[in-house]
Amino acid sequence: MAPEKLRYDGQTVVVTGAGGGLGKAYAVFFGSRGANVVVNDLGGSAKGEGSGKNMADEVVKQIRDAGGKAVANYDDVMNGEAIIKTAIDNFGRIDVLINNAGILRDISFKNMKDQDWDLIMKVHVQGAYRCARAAWPHFRKQKYGRLISTASAAGLYGSFGQTNYSAAKLALVGFTESLAKEGVKYNILCNTIAPIAGSRLTATVMPQEVLELLRPEFVVPLVAVLCHSSNEDETGSIFEVGGGYVAKIRWERTQGALLRADESFTPGALLQKWKDVADFSRENQHASGPADFAGLLEDAQKLPNNP
Ligand code: NAD
Repeated sequence: MAPEKLRYDGQTVVVTGAGGGLGKAYAVFFGSRGANVVVNDLGGSAKGEGSGKNMADEVVKQIRDAGGKAVANYDDVMNGEAIIKTAIDNFGRIDVLINNAGILRDISFKNMKDQDWDLIMKVHVQGAYRCARAAWPHFRKQKYGRLISTASAAGLYGSFGQTNYSAAKLALVGFTESLAKEGVKYNILCNTIAPIAGSRLTATVMPQEVLELLRPEFVVPLVAVLCHSSNEDETGSIFEVGGGYVAKIRWERTQGALLRADESFTPGALLQKWKDVADFSRENQHASGPADFAGLLEDAQKLPNNP
């Protein structure tokens, strides 16, 4: 049997930074599957300079020409209220928010200026927060919402010359995991993706033949699945996605060392147990939540003095 063709009729999808790259691919997809789409884009440069209406307008035209429903919004994501208002004013609701807008200010840490740091935090972290905060009351009231945050491998693993971007992207993981916990009882499901795709952000760092294999369209199916009403339980998750590959990732902790917590717990005593602390080849466990400190404290009381 052919897989079900997911549709979004009657739903409103807001995509930030939808004037190009990944955001455009999402917007065009949702527009082709019955959704009302708000195509937000500030229309500036990849470094966050300038603004313009052309990028959003062109995507709206493409969706409408294909028979879909879309409106443009040209606000900075920092103005999340106005972006969500565009959805409410035009379509009366918002069902899906894809926080996707982004810029780069790559520079070695030695040469980083406050402006490079602050602008990255603003666009990625505060922008996502402002849009989510404006959408949240609507999601709660209608007991339905799907939210995507866009992180990056740079945030999960670190990346030379991207301390600002990496910090912002990992912030979005924590933001989204907490949102997922607050949203779940209202059927608001929130997930994070770390995509890879050929776009103006990656055009200068990857060879052309690789970029062609990493079409933004190859990230769309994951976002489509996570944002569909048939997704009833996938929330608070992190996915790496791109070029046809999709994988969920999770934290992992080592076996860990448990030492008696009294005056015998010295740096030297800890050093003797360092393998238990740091060695992942030993018995370990995936960490879907914080360590069970209550249980560990109880066990620690029963230990003999540290050597
Ligand atoms: P892109 O530059 O093609 O798209 C980003 C869009 O966001 C642009 O159209 C831009 O005009 C818009 N934008 C920037 N600042 C904005 C603001 N303040 N308000 C509204 N719109 C704004 O790049 P892309 O590669 O499609 O990136 C999309 C997202 O994916 C970004 O968050 C990026 O960090 C993330 N990402 C991309 C890759 C990749 O391989 N392309 C990898 C990891 C993460």
